[in-house]
Amino acid sequence: MVFVIMGPQGSGKSTQAKLLSQRLGLYLISTGTILRDLYAANTPMGIEAEEYWSEGHLVPNDLMHKILLEQIAEHKNIKGYVLEGFPREEGQYTELEKIFKRPVAAVIDLTVDREVYMQRIESRKVIEKRKDETEEAIERRLNAFEQHTLPLLKKFEKDGIPVVMIDGTQPIDNVHQQIWDHIQSYLSN
Ligand code: ADP
Repeated sequence: MVFVIMGPQGSGKSTQAKLLSQRLGLYLISTGTILRDLYAANTPMGIEAEEYWSEGHLVPNDLMHKILLEQIAEHKNIKGYVLEGFPREEGQYTELEKIFKRPVAAVIDLTVDREVYMQRIESRKVIEKRKDETEEAIERRLNAFEQHTLPLLKKFEKDGIPVVMIDGTQPIDNVHQQIWDHIQSYLSN
């Protein structure tokens, strides 16, 4: 069983992915966090990937897939995954089931107006000091999201995978509760 959490930067998707994975006992795959951790740990793949993400570019699929396969190599007997930050473009969409070897039960689409997520990004810039929070990198990431990631929602739907839209501007607990209520019928997959 795989759940995918989608949404723009600042939509709260990493918070929601964490809450959902804990509640369901599923393994959390948060690609942005994985990339930053691998870089901080000085691993060769982490260093290679940083050249892309620090500028707001997507990490190339080959490298991203290798990183994910390594992350999940030791996962035996787990119920499934909550994915956050993956898939981000078409090639990743195609590879998803090959990498995670489980069907996608549902996709949660956190919707937030541009004005709101721009505000959230501005305020977290001060707190997190991420390398990719320069004006340029933020703009590139938003463009990548709109051009490459958003169209995947239609693909999921076309392939018969339910996409649940949740208003991401609500308080964290409300968003979580709504996700929880909506996914009950997809839990058996
Ligand atoms: P955000 O969703 O706020 O852009 P993330 O922490 O999810 O932030 O990702 C940070 C950066 O890591 C992305 O801008 C991108 O460069 C890289 N990244 C994350 N996931 C992927 C992915 N699936 N494929 C390619 N690059 C990725």
